[in-house]
Amino acid sequence: MENICKNYVIAIDGEAGTGKSTLAKNIAKKYSIVYMDTGAMYRIVTLAMIYNKINLDEIDKIEKLLKEIKLEMTNENGEDKFYLNDEDVSKKIREKQVNDLVSQVSHIPVVRNSMVDLQRKLAQGKKIVMEGRDIGTNVFPNAEVKIYLVASAEERAKRRFEQNKEKGIDIPYEEILENVKFRDNNDKSSSVGTLKKAEDAYEIDTTNYTLEEVENLVVEKIKERVDINENS
Ligand code: C5P
Repeated sequence: MENICKNYVIAIDGEAGTGKSTLAKNIAKKYSIVYMDTGAMYRIVTLAMIYNKINLDEIDKIEKLLKEIKLEMTNENGEDKFYLNDEDVSKKIREKQVNDLVSQVSHIPVVRNSMVDLQRKLAQGKKIVMEGRDIGTNVFPNAEVKIYLVASAEERAKRRFEQNKEKGIDIPYEEILENVKFRDNNDKSSSVGTLKKAEDAYEIDTTNYTLEEVENLVVEKIKERVDINENS
């Protein structure tokens, strides 16, 4: 077996609402490894731009903002929390104003470069499961394990709707479906950080699988590649 006791990256990429977050969190918890939600990082930057009334084409202002903002991700009593300059923005970053802009913001090269640098830095020296769009292709092209999740747009919107309901976020299903389709098209067509399956990624269509079934398949893959032990 490769990579015994070494640090490693498990990259979980795919479209919005395929179950990446839940899967990545479960794996992190089960194996006591670090979890990183890279989408949340782009969401925090988007919110900071909204707060500061910065437009998508104001690159100088965006560059300055990226140097100034403090972005923190923590886990408090089992709950993931996100902070922008010490303000808890965990809920705000999931709201409509951010949903509508985040995909465009994430494709601004200075934003992507800055976030990718930060992601690599934060992952250093760790056993980590990272979820996003470009982790297996761009951030960690040599990741030990690469998973790519897909599912039908309707199923993904339904899952997001349920997740939001649990978090107390009230967005109609049709609006979520439209946003999910819009972001995916945008994420796939952009020249920067395209949502694309890495050639060596293991693809799972999760439409007709339960979360547990997906997790079992993924754990099997992980165990082929790295030495991972429950609660190690
Ligand atoms: O994962 P989530 O849906 O929260 O991501 C929000 C947006 O951030 C995505 O629609 C995508 O445009 C962008 N993103 C990205 N690269 C990542 C993670 C997210 O471009 N690694």
